[in-house]
This record gives sequence, structure tokens and C-alpha cells, in this order.
Amino acid sequence: MLEKRNFYINGSWVKPKKQKDIEVINPATEKSCAVISLGGKDDINDAVLVAKQAFKTWGFSTKEERIALLENFYELYKKRWNDITDAIILEMGAPKDFASKLQTGTGASHTKSFIRYLKEFEFEKPLGDHEKNQRILYEPKGVCALITPWNWPMNQVCLKVIPALAAGCTMILKPSELAPLSSMVLAELIDEAKFPKGVFNLVNGDGATTGEALTSHPDVNMISFTGSTRAGALISQNAAKDFKRISLELGGKGANIIFKDADAEAIERGALRCFRNSGQSCNAPTRMLVEKPIYDEAVERLKKYANDFKVDDPNKEGDHIGPVISETQFNKIQNLIQKGIDEGAKLVAGGPGKPDGIKDGYYIKPTVFADVNNNMEIARTEIFGPVLSVIPFETEEEAIEIANDTDYGLTNYIQTQDNEKVQRVARKLRSGMVDVNGAGIAVDAPFGGYKHSGIGREAGKEGLIEFLEVKSVGGWN
Ligand code: NAD
Repeated sequence: MLEKRNFYINGSWVKPKKQKDIEVINPATEKSCAVISLGGKDDINDAVLVAKQAFKTWGFSTKEERIALLENFYELYKKRWNDITDAIILEMGAPKDFASKLQTGTGASHTKSFIRYLKEFEFEKPLGDHEKNQRILYEPKGVCALITPWNWPMNQVCLKVIPALAAGCTMILKPSELAPLSSMVLAELIDEAKFPKGVFNLVNGDGATTGEALTSHPDVNMISFTGSTRAGALISQNAAKDFKRISLELGGKGANIIFKDADAEAIERGALRCFRNSGQSCNAPTRMLVEKPIYDEAVERLKKYANDFKVDDPNKEGDHIGPVISETQFNKIQNLIQKGIDEGAKLVAGGPGKPDGIKDGYYIKPTVFADVNNNMEIARTEIFGPVLSVIPFETEEEAIEIANDTDYGLTNYIQTQDNEKVQRVARKLRSGMVDVNGAGIAVDAPFGGYKHSGIGREAGKEGLIEFLEVKSVGGWN
């Protein structure tokens, strides 16, 4: 078992002020694989104090200095690729190939892209030719609390840590207590890259104690949070007390609108995007809306696809999915599957219980419900497991109405060969992202949601700007 009790504060690995252990459970075996500490108020106070001190110089560092350090970090990240991947497999059960290519891969892609945007970004510029003496300055927001979940650990951590560093902010990262190990490798890389002491700090712990201490600390200037809508609301209340800046990336319940002229792979591609990462993606298309003339065929195809879909050990190579993160999530998903049956949705594949032949590990059967009504709980709640709800529709207007009839608004999907229809529907969908015919959303395109899916945008130029305040100076000669 790995012993990872120390926190990274002021450039050193230090013991917690009061020892309180938390076990990290490997979801593939249900056994403890590491022990970390739960940070208390005193640990958070120490980390915030050094971050505040470090901001006095790092906040005025040059762009060139930050580029050089981030480039060091990027090179080290590539060298430790396998260590990061192994940590992700262990802590959250993503299968080997997926963990390497996508989980570790997106962390690298974001880092590379932020370095590019940092090089291009003008931190000082005139308002315009009409007002040459008016200067606009973009300045770092200050001490940032970065709080991340477990489902895409390195992707989410890099979407916060790298732009915060690029902007000149200092920070305290509190990764998910369920998947903290990859973040601890990242802290080692930051140390090795030689960022000044106190610029980056890591304190482990849970939401109720450590997260709460961090988000209510008066010297934290900004909170960037990814996680549940429930925690996002609590954090916003803490932030409101002293006007901390907030950026929230929360849940989703994406609709995938399949028109009758969709391409030949649209149905299976949609199911794959729902099941991938064991359904644990905020942007997963979990409601498949299918136009009536192709509905019966779509349900038959989904039945076959889900029944053939492989679920297996994350340590094996291949394109299977692994377990879900925890016993709590396993039970929540099982209850929602039962709820779908009780509400009268038609179970066409999967269902309650573990996949055949699997005893240990939090594995779920890839599950498809047909004849779902958008008012059923399985169509409204973010299940966060490999469970697809299929809903029939008759007209374009009806499809848009069903897609928008949700509290969330993160990513919606459209499948049709008709470009005019694509543009008409994309404009009407109330979500931060719309993915058409499997094109995907670029790594540096703004990522974020409408409504309960959050506030602000991550990735690329917009993701860098989130960490900057804007100052206007008149009379600049
Ligand atoms: P969670 O909200 O329980 O936990 C996320 C993080 O917040 C953890 O580090 C946790 O310790 C911390 N936390 C929890 N309560 C807190 C509090 N009161 N104060 C401060 N910190 C607190 O969510 P989760 O179960 O870990 O993650 C799954 C959720 O995250 C899903 O709803 C998913 O959709 C969402 N998510 C959203 C995005 C996005 O970009 N929109 C990306 C990934 C995950």
C-alpha cells in the first residue's frame, strides 16, 4: 500500500498538522491501495499564507519566465507519462489504453495548448486607436483554490493548474480524495520544474473539512471548482461572503439528437460516448433522442451494441470499460437502474447487478432503456454510470424542446446530414457546447455550461482569461 500522507506546501512535502488518514480504494478490487491525509484548517492556513506571500513576486513574474517553467513542466510530464497513467488506473479504474491515451493524454494536450496561448496573449494593450492613452491590463487574480473531482483527474487538474500558473496566480490544489494519486505525481513535476516555492501547493482531504476550510478562507481570491452541482452551490455561498471570483464546471445530462438522415455510425457512436469512462463524464450524451422512422431499428442496434460491450479489468489492454469509482456510486447507479424499471422504461440491455462472471470491483452492466419519457428520473438525474436513456421524437421542434427540458446545459449532440438543420438546431440548444456528427470539441475550444452546468469556461484562451482580472488605466502615455 502506498503511503502518501504528506502535503506539498512551500516547496516541500510536509506532515499534516493533525494526523487523520483516509484510505484510497482501488475500484477494480475494492481494496485499499494507498493512504493519504485529511487536511484540516491549520494545514489550509499554512498553504494559503505561503501562496499569499509567493504571489507578491510571482504575480509580477515575466511572461518569459512563466513560459520557460511551463515548458520544463511539459517535458517532465511527457517523461513521467507512464507513472501518471499507472496512478490513474489505480485510483479510478480507467483501463490502461484509455487512461494513457485519453486521461493522461488530455492533461498533456491542455498543457501544450495553454503554453501556446500564453505566448500569444497580450497582457497589456491600448483600448484602441481611438483612445491611445487608455491601457487595458490583464492581471492575475491572486491566490486560487482549485478543487477537482475523480472522473478525469489529470484533465481537470491541468485545466486549472496550468492556466493559473500561466496567468501568474498562486494556488492550493485540493484534488478529489477518491483519486488523489495522479495529482501527487503532478506536484512532483512542479517541484522538479523549479517553480518558486509557495506558487503551487497541494493539500489533500475531503469536501466537508478541507474543501470547506479552503473555500471559506478570506485570503483566497478565486475558486475554480469542478464537481457536482450540489457542491458547486455550497461553494458559491462561501464565495459570495467576500466576493471571491468563481468558476464552476458542474454536471450534465446531454441530449444526442439522432435525425432519420444520420450517418451509419451515429447510433453506436452515441452509445460509445455514453458508456466511455464507465459513463463518468459530465459531457456524456446520456439521453438519446431518436426520430420515429428509425426508432425501432435504433433500439435493436443499441441492444446488440450494449450486450457486446466489454467490461473488464483496467490493468488489461483493450477498448473495454472498467469499474465505476466507488461503492457509493455503484449503489447510486444500481438504484437508478431499478428506478428506471419501476417507472416503466423498457430495459433492453444490461440492468441491475454486476456483469456475468465478475465478483469483485464496482462494475456495472452497460445498460439501455428504451421508451423513456423525459420526465422520468433516469432522464433527469445525472446517473454517472454506463446507462443510456432512449427517447423517441417526431419533429425538430419537439427534439429541441426535449433536449432543452433539463436543469443542465453542458454538451448536446446532433446527428444529421442536413447542414442547414445542424445550424438551426445548434443555435437553439441551450448548452455551452454542441458536438455535430462526431466531430468532437477541440482541446482548446471553450469548455463549460449553461444553467446548472456551471459558470465560466475552461481550456484555451478563455480558460486562461478566467484567471485574470481586467484593469483600465486612463492617461497612460
Ligand atoms: P463532488 O462535488 O462530490 O466532489 C468534487 C470535489 O469537490 C472533490 O474534490 C470534493 O472533495 C470537493 N467537495 C465536495 N464538497 C465540497 C464542499 N462542500 N466544499 C468544497 N469542496 C467540496 O463531485 P464528484 O462526485 O467528485 O464528481 C462528479 C461530479 O462532477 C459530477 O456531477 C460531474 O458531472 C461533475 N463534473 C463536471 C465536469 C465539468 O467540467 N462540467 C467535469 C467533471 C465532473
